[in-house]
Amino acid sequence: MDFRLSSEEESLRKTIEGFVREHLIPLEAEFDNAPDIFEGSRWKSRAKLSRDPEIMRYVGIMEELEKKAEAQGLWYLDVPKEYGGLQVSNVAMLAATEELEKNSIPFEFGNHVSNILYSCKGDQIDRFLWPCIRGEKTSAFGLTEPASGADPSMLQTTAVPDGDDFIINGSKMFPTFADVADFVQLFARLPGTKGREGVTCFLIDTGTPGYRVTRSIETLAGTEPCELLFEDCRVPKTQVLGEIGKGWALNQAWLGARRFQVGIRAHGMSQRVLRVVAELLGRDAVEAAKFVERIGYFSGELEALRTLTYLGAWKADQKMDVRSEAANVKLFATELLHKIVDFALDVAGPAMLRKNHVLARAFRHARARRIVEGPSEIQRHIIQRALFREGAALLELQ
Ligand SMILES: Cc1cc2nc3c(=O)[nH]c(=O)nc-3n(C[C@H](O)[C@H](O)[C@H](O)COP(=O)(O)OP(=O)(O)OC[C@H]3O[C@@H](n4cnc5c(N)ncnc54)[C@H](O)[C@@H]3O)c2cc1C
Repeated sequence: MDFRLSSEEESLRKTIEGFVREHLIPLEAEFDNAPDIFEGSRWKSRAKLSRDPEIMRYVGIMEELEKKAEAQGLWYLDVPKEYGGLQVSNVAMLAATEELEKNSIPFEFGNHVSNILYSCKGDQIDRFLWPCIRGEKTSAFGLTEPASGADPSMLQTTAVPDGDDFIINGSKMFPTFADVADFVQLFARLPGTKGREGVTCFLIDTGTPGYRVTRSIETLAGTEPCELLFEDCRVPKTQVLGEIGKGWALNQAWLGARRFQVGIRAHGMSQRVLRVVAELLGRDAVEAAKFVERIGYFSGELEALRTLTYLGAWKADQKMDVRSEAANVKLFATELLHKIVDFALDVAGPAMLRKNHVLARAFRHARARRIVEGPSEIQRHIIQRALFREGAALLELQ
């Protein structure tokens, strides 16, 4: 087996390494005091609408960075070639993110495009997909409901056909930044269906009659999920994403592809946290002696996470079924990050609980990551299911 990056992947990684060193790391100290909105990768949705001069100043810095990245060809990394992107492999995206994670500024090489939007057809492409690629529009993802979260197949929002339209009724919990998004990717079910059957994804513009954002919820993770209400909301059939009744596969595709990024991000954040710990302990040899063993243990686990994440991404590039690997990475990455941040807070003591301190920020993100996109318990369910599938197959062979 060859574990090295291909020459193309290695050259992209090196260019990004240089970009991070030259343009991002020098700005880190400035971003330590940035408003909360710049926590996490989804700052753009809300920050771009703000008239607060301080937020606008940081948006200006980010826009300058984006121009520099674009000039170096570091833009639209994962956008398909047919849309003018580089369409790099999953492995290359990991290598890019791994370099990016060596700094703490929430910079991305491209605008946020929900991967299922590449299923857009006909005029949906100009109306929804292209504006997201160009950064002119943002979207929210509406799957979770008050009574269906960890198990989204229990979703109750209905989409009833009516001539050339569907009439949508129901409510959604937590779509991140839906209040500032231009449209929502909404999952609803056809009448008389249950479980995974009949789930359909709609693209619904903000402001469509019958669609209301009822509140936005400030969370400790810096993002602002919302609550949405649909009351006899009429949506044309032309706004179905993919096929009618086949939305479950889209939901799975959205989750699957993101999991390996979760792994490498948790790996990067953990390493930054351990570096803070090492710096603190470097000042006191007696204190350091108490903790070196645990730091060694965590370093080993981080290397295991990194290997697992790259293996999953490589399998995804070979078009293999990666449902188990994706669940493994999500579970292992978010649980390990949480353990490491918790340990770092023990070492650092109460002074580091200051809200803006890098460790306090990491703690807030780490806790939320164990819940969003499927909590740990659900990942364990997915992993054990694979074992039982294999068990049954082995029994059949006997
Ligand atoms: C900051 C944030 C952003 C979010 N953004 C979005 C978004 O953009 N779009 C979206 O659709 N959703 C979003 N969510 C929702 C998120 O995906 C759900 O919170 C998550 O899937 C869990 O669903 P729930 O909160 O309804 O928990 P529940 O389903 O009520 O579960 C609660 C807890 O019970 C346990 N549990 C549940 N089922 C089982 C089981 N079978 N076995 C054992 N234990 C179990 C788990 O610990 C789980 O955390 C966001 C949530 C947060 C906190």
